Amino acid sequence: MRNIKYIVVHCTAGNQKQKAKDVVYFHTGPKSKGCYGWSAPGYHYIVEADGTVVSTWPEDRISNGVKGHNAESINICWVGGLGAMDNRTEEQKRALVNLVRVLKERYPDAEVRGHRDFSEDKNGNGIIDPWERIKECPCFDAIPEYKDV
Ligand SMILES: [Zn+2]
Repeated sequence: MRNIKYIVVHCTAGNQKQKAKDVVYFHTGPKSKGCYGWSAPGYHYIVEADGTVVSTWPEDRISNGVKGHNAESINICWVGGLGAMDNRTEEQKRALVNLVRVLKERYPDAEVRGHRDFSEDKNGNGIIDPWERIKECPCFDAIPEYKDV
């Protein structure tokens, strides 16, 4: 089993009608079809708009969510967030809490973070300020949101 240090939350930054399998296809499908052609998808779990949690990659294998940290991360993702908007449905919010809870039980030492919390702290003030974010993903502050989960 891998040594998991992070449970990383993402959004697709796409339409909420997307299904998990479309996201996986976009990551792993052929470049000739406009996909990324990766050997592994971006996330282990994808939470669809209706709250359905789809397992998209085995936890013991490395996915492609956060550059430089994938070997030590479980990547989970909610469908939505187009225009950097936090438009999670109530069903998604509940499903994400449940998923984080299950993963925290499995990896008690893992820290829950948002993708954007891996940005560089350029001014060294100990927090990632909005202007320092590599991208907005997952469009909400995951650290305070899941601190008690
Ligand atoms: Zn992300």
